[in-house]
Amino acid sequence: MILCYLSFAINSSIAQSNTSNATYIKAGKLFDSENEKILSDYIIKIEDNRITEGGRNISIPTDAKTIDLSEYTVLPGLIDGHTHLMTLDNLNDDTPMADKLLFEGDALRVLRGSKRAKSWLENGFTTVRDLGDSGPFLDVALKRAINEGTVDGPRMFVSGPIIISEGGQVPGLLKSYREVISDEYTIIRSVDEAINAVRVHVNYGADIIKICANNSPNNTSLTINEMKAIVKMAHRYGKKVTAHATNDLAVWEAVTAGVDGIEHGYQISDTTLTLMAQKGVALVPTDISIPLFHKLYDIVDFQWNRELNLKRAKDRYQDRLLRAIEAGVTILTGSDNYLDFEMPQGEAAKNILVAYHEEGMKPLQILSSSTYLSANFMGKENELGIIKKGAFADIIAVKGDIENDFSNTIFNLVFVMKNGEIYVE
Ligand SMILES: [Zn+2]
Repeated sequence: MILCYLSFAINSSIAQSNTSNATYIKAGKLFDSENEKILSDYIIKIEDNRITEGGRNISIPTDAKTIDLSEYTVLPGLIDGHTHLMTLDNLNDDTPMADKLLFEGDALRVLRGSKRAKSWLENGFTTVRDLGDSGPFLDVALKRAINEGTVDGPRMFVSGPIIISEGGQVPGLLKSYREVISDEYTIIRSVDEAINAVRVHVNYGADIIKICANNSPNNTSLTINEMKAIVKMAHRYGKKVTAHATNDLAVWEAVTAGVDGIEHGYQISDTTLTLMAQKGVALVPTDISIPLFHKLYDIVDFQWNRELNLKRAKDRYQDRLLRAIEAGVTILTGSDNYLDFEMPQGEAAKNILVAYHEEGMKPLQILSSSTYLSANFMGKENELGIIKKGAFADIIAVKGDIENDFSNTIFNLVFVMKNGEIYVE
């Protein structure tokens, strides 16, 4: 009899806490990332870490916890598809690699990285793809610490060390010091080593494989056969491959080898863009916004004709971005922010959205790129970058007119929720 009573009490308390657990968000405007539209007067129901309902005709129980964002525009949490959380280079330092590789050490590096990770979250990025420059799988360690709640940060999808050819991205390193870069990069010398490198990365927890098709600023590069072997092996384990590739030849070789994404792609011919579109290869343009260019010039005390220099760079970015869109290439958002702009790194990273806007992308096109399309690329199309039933409760809100005053509004952040927990309110 006592046992029966106890079990009834336990069941009823579970039932009560389930209903009272739900949180409702009233959104004045809502960005529908899948359809690139702004909806109005939308209600989102959240239970634990998931969205369990969304729509205009949802009734909110009188005693339910309600977050009133009816004055604001609500968006899925942003995704930065190209970060290096474990790296911050001082713009006036001639040898940032030496500092990082010889003096910083893994422990200090991860602690610093965790602070940077938090700044991404506080600036509305609830997910990042961290693409190397992170020592011997320190990105996997930080990801674990965030997932278990030890530190606050965005969801991380990580590559581990970049798989790369001789020398890594450190040109001219004295031969007797070459071992120094073997923790920072996975250097391969043959097709067999390429295959094993992927197995090593999968074993240590990489979510994605990052390669350097060309090693700029170093002059060495992977061969097409090495890249093909990497792609084949990565796809066998369900991992995508993305390639740092700056010039047209490197992009063409990587795309021919079967990669899924191209990072940077500063110079790409129309022929290569057409091939990318045909093969469904995404482009992550890591461009710099005009305000960040000015900040950079100030920090390094750049004396040459600033306006001319800036215009040349922006014209090149814009020409490439618009030709890529015209060719039908999917654009994903990636800040590649690893330079110290003397502001929180997550704030500097958000300038990537401004850069695309300066170059002619429309606000909703940019938002779709940094939510829905980026989530699709990671195979998370129904869980991230979207506000709908079943998705993770990664939700942000901004104050202002996102369609007509994009560059200001995107920085007017009033709310950040990740995995059902509120970080900015
Ligand atoms: Zn990068």
